[in-house]
Amino acid sequence: MNAPSDTIFGKIIRREIPANIVYEDDLCLAFRDVAPQAPVHILLIPKKPIVNLSTLEPEDQAVLGHMMLMASQIAAQEGLSNGYRVVTNIGEDGGQTVYHLHFHILGGRALSWPPG
Ligand code: AMP
Repeated sequence: MNAPSDTIFGKIIRREIPANIVYEDDLCLAFRDVAPQAPVHILLIPKKPIVNLSTLEPEDQAVLGHMMLMASQIAAQEGLSNGYRVVTNIGEDGGQTVYHLHFHILGGRALSWPPG
């Protein structure tokens, strides 16, 4: 597996490729998904190159808590007052395609459950 810093999201953090950035601070970055699955589809990523939830270390606790607060703030900013979904895919069976931790923030339409 490539080092997380080699993923497309690492390139976005380093501004080596463009992205439609909606939020940024010292710890995380949020940008619009290039292939949106809902009217609002934003990816929220840590700047630290973490692979996925399965590779979290105790020291990551604060940044993950911060990201959940920011997910809520971004959803409010996007006007998702009727509800939305935050999801992270882990590994092959989870459907993860980019091996840099990311939370999908999806909203703007009624989302079905369960996922496929
Ligand atoms: P996952 O399948 O959970 O790993 O999600 C990866 C997501 O990254 C997919 O929804 C892709 O559409 C999205 N994606 C891939 N490349 C880019 C990019 N350059 N800019 C924005 N989103 C991207």
